[in-house]
Amino acid sequence: MPELPEVEVIVRELRGPLTGRRIIDAWTDWPKYFHQPKSEEEFRSCIQGRQIEAIDRRAKYILIHLSRRHLLLVHQKISGRLQMGKWVWNPAASQGVGRWQPATSPDHAPQGGRFIHLLFELDNGEQLGLSDLRKFAKVMCGPERDILDLPELRNLGPEPLSPNLTFSKFEQLFRRKRGNLKEVLMDPTFIAGIGNLYSDEILYTSLLHPLTRVEHLQTPQFRVLYHGVRTVLRKAIRLGATGRRAPDGSRQGYDRVLLVYGREGECCPRGHVIERIKVGGRSAHYCPVEQIRL
Ligand SMILES: [Zn+2]
Repeated sequence: MPELPEVEVIVRELRGPLTGRRIIDAWTDWPKYFHQPKSEEEFRSCIQGRQIEAIDRRAKYILIHLSRRHLLLVHQKISGRLQMGKWVWNPAASQGVGRWQPATSPDHAPQGGRFIHLLFELDNGEQLGLSDLRKFAKVMCGPERDILDLPELRNLGPEPLSPNLTFSKFEQLFRRKRGNLKEVLMDPTFIAGIGNLYSDEILYTSLLHPLTRVEHLQTPQFRVLYHGVRTVLRKAIRLGATGRRAPDGSRQGYDRVLLVYGREGECCPRGHVIERIKVGGRSAHYCPVEQIRL
């Protein structure tokens, strides 16, 4: 499941090629993507002819700011990936079922052409495609104030990398919270964008046990956690986050430097065997030697 760094990397990739483009139309074979408005017809009339003025991110949502103060929102969920490319429709690609296929030679082809289920036509002949094997993504469009006022956006916790989240605000926030650190970090209404993978990495970096209760922490530990959150998320963004493979199938980006996540039975960077425990229905990977439960 993509987390804040994965979404931020995509936003940074799209910003250059998308900003200033005009959306001509949209195509989908999965109208269930549209959560607001729900009808495909209304959705298309919401985006048709609008210019893309800016693109940014809130938690795991991609925010595409359109002309006349409209907002197109995409949550890629589990397997979705927005990407620029050029595809052509092949009406009989797979046993008589139509499919988008990369227009360029396979070497330079955008990935995931066969799972393109939503596609925006742009004014320069390029396309913005949503490749989405599982089809769980979510798409919304409307006046900016209406979209930003949806409960799922309004109820999000602060952005962990925002310059506004100073250490003193971070400490104040965490001092009001109860519960074990792993679940606290993964609560999007408390702090945005951190999931299973990065919470494990942050807690190892901070040498805090996933089951340590937040109400047992003091200022020095909050300081270490604050730096852990920012260091891990920034490093992941810098490296291109996770989930991308080189053409030869080898690991790339942050997948190559994972400290503990998904590494049960292997060694932590200082040579101790990583263990896995269940925390609130999720798996936590940690070093039992260095991450002492307070
Ligand atoms: Zn260790």
